[in-house]
Amino acid sequence: MTMKLFLPVMLGIILAAALVLISQRAPDRRIAPATAMGGFDGFRLAASAREPLSPPVSVPLPTLMPVAPRGFTPAPPDARPYVPILMYHYVRYVDRAADPLGFSLSVTPEQLDAQLGWLKAAGYETVRMDALAACMRGAGHCPLRAVALTFDDGYADAFTTALPIVRRHGFVATFYIVSGFVGQPGYMGWEEIRALRDAGMEIGAHSISHPDLTGLGLEELRVQVGQSGALIAAEIGQPVVSFCYPGGRFSETVVAVTREAGYTSATTTIQDGPQSDPFTLPRLRIAGDLTLELFQGMVSAHLP
Ligand SMILES: [Zn+2]
Repeated sequence: MTMKLFLPVMLGIILAAALVLISQRAPDRRIAPATAMGGFDGFRLAASAREPLSPPVSVPLPTLMPVAPRGFTPAPPDARPYVPILMYHYVRYVDRAADPLGFSLSVTPEQLDAQLGWLKAAGYETVRMDALAACMRGAGHCPLRAVALTFDDGYADAFTTALPIVRRHGFVATFYIVSGFVGQPGYMGWEEIRALRDAGMEIGAHSISHPDLTGLGLEELRVQVGQSGALIAAEIGQPVVSFCYPGGRFSETVVAVTREAGYTSATTTIQDGPQSDPFTLPRLRIAGDLTLELFQGMVSAHLP
């Protein structure tokens, strides 16, 4: 081969090799098509376009903590974890201007759904108050990351609205019933309360007529505390071991009577505090204006 022919041939080979290289790399430099772009960061290069697209997220679940791995390690016996007890009343829509108190006592179904969805995503499991009391006295399993859901007063929406949302997340809750209010307008009847029981929910007692227990004589106090639970137990065919002080009002005498009546725990409206005495348990009030971010902060502040 002469030099006259050799140079053009070599140039041709080099050019062809370069073209092949460029054509192989070109797709990697391509900007991802619009459909591959998430609504969150708005830009992704082709490298991420090869990843499977995540389905659209209906409720954003911001996380303040990494999601816990599946399965829980039981806490060591000498280190019982703090279990946040959440206090709910109504699950409904309320006009804040027309009914400010009702608004503060209510969360919307969407709020409850988002709160429980976040608890689930963050790896929490729910415990009923009877299980929490057992855990506190060293007689039961203590999940490392647990939360207790409580619903006060036995309102009708506990059955119609709260129950389906709690079940959808695979959670359990404790519902405190005012025995004398059952079946009245706005409250659940015994059939609904039995349906809660059948769904694995705990039924607790919340007195007969929701009085301030600290203002009662001893006899009436024993009736309000002891007989409310006995009446509910007879209606649902199960022991009632969890009590909630009406209006959060209690005294040493009220605590002593509650203990004597055979309950294993009682909840208050104390917003925060030590979880040392199962008969004066503090709860976190979940008010209507609580944002999801504040909810997360309140709950996760108690993590071990
Ligand atoms: Zn109440």
